[in-house]
Formats: sequence, C-alpha cells, structure tokens
Amino acid sequence: MLMLEKSFPLSNKMRISVDHEKLGVFSQSHVKFYLKYSSFVFRALKKPSFQNFLHWMLKKEKIEEDAVRTVHVKVLPFRRKNGKCLAGTCNTSRGRIRIYPKTMKFCQTFKQKFGRNTLLVYAGNRARAALIHELLHLKYAEDEKTVRELSEDYFLTCTQKQPNQSSKAFFIYTMIFHAKISGEKTLPSGSNEPSKRLKLNEACLRASGVLSKPC
Ligand SMILES: [Zn+2]
Repeated sequence: MLMLEKSFPLSNKMRISVDHEKLGVFSQSHVKFYLKYSSFVFRALKKPSFQNFLHWMLKKEKIEEDAVRTVHVKVLPFRRKNGKCLAGTCNTSRGRIRIYPKTMKFCQTFKQKFGRNTLLVYAGNRARAALIHELLHLKYAEDEKTVRELSEDYFLTCTQKQPNQSSKAFFIYTMIFHAKISGEKTLPSGSNEPSKRLKLNEACLRASGVLSKPC
C-alpha cells in the first residue's frame, strides 16, 4: 500500500467536494444524481492506470507534483454568467484544481440517445480530459492555445495507453475535442444546449461507427 501511495501522490490529493450552501438550490433527485456522478468520476480519475499516465505526463512536462495541492471533484455543476458550464478550473498560484460535472439535463438527453454505457464512458473521459487540461495550466498558465493543443495530444495518448478502455474512448475523444459550436472548442467549457451538442455528438458517433449497431 505504501508503495502505491508513493507512486501516485496526486491520487492522495483528490477529494469529492460539495458547496453545502448551494445544495438547497437543487431538488433531491438532482442532488442524488450529482452525488452518484461525482463518485463515478472520482473513481475514474483515481484508477491506477490513469494515475500512472498523469505521473508520466507531469514528469515529461517537468511539472512538480508538489505544484498540485488539491484536486476537487465538485458535486455540483458550475455555470458561468454567460450560461456555459465549466469542465474544470485551475488556480495556478494555489495549485488548486476543480473538476465539474455536466448538468443532469445534458446527461438525461445523452442517455436517452446513446444509452447509459456511452454516457459513463463520456463522463469518465470528459473528466480525464479536464484534469489533463487543468494540470497543464500549472505550467502554461494563461496560454490557453498551448494548453488546448497539448491537452488534445495527451488525451489521445492517454486513451491509447489505457488497457481497459473500450474502443468507444477514441470516439469520445473526437466528441470532446472536435465537436465545435460556432468555431469554439468544447473544452474548457461546453454549450449548455443539450440538443445542439447532441446533434454534433451523434454525428461524431455515427461517423465513428459506434452507433452503427442497434442498441
Ligand atoms: Zn484552459
């Protein structure tokens, strides 16, 4: 056990975190949904194969693991003033990373269209992509262009390195990084209009053959 903890120091800095004062704004069913979502994402991010990948990436980028103080998997989504939902944030001076969920509304529409399994693959990989992205901000700070380009490269490497990833992961990559709305990439923030996003997602999945088989 000690060996394992020593190998993945980032894993020990991860917490599920909820803003209790915001809980009252959400209905009981929403809270239940977001709690389940966050515990799923938390497990996905703590998987040794992914932690191993992050360890490798940080070393390659010469980012000290000490630069990361906390990684909070937030239970509730974060909506910006422009209505967009954030996938993650990074406070570079404090070394504090936050990963946010998609909204329940988005997930319900997604599940109806593509099924529960594809939603789980999507949610896990979206969180992985967000964590990779936010970790890179520790080095590249405000250089969003470089962070986005590198995030995309690293995420692709990550999906290739994961032994247990289903073949869907690559297509989810296409969905996360190449579904564009008015020329804007989906990371770090995506559109809040599930119907718009899903049309693009559906096109990506069809093109990739994931949807060619009957569900
Ligand atoms: Zn960014």
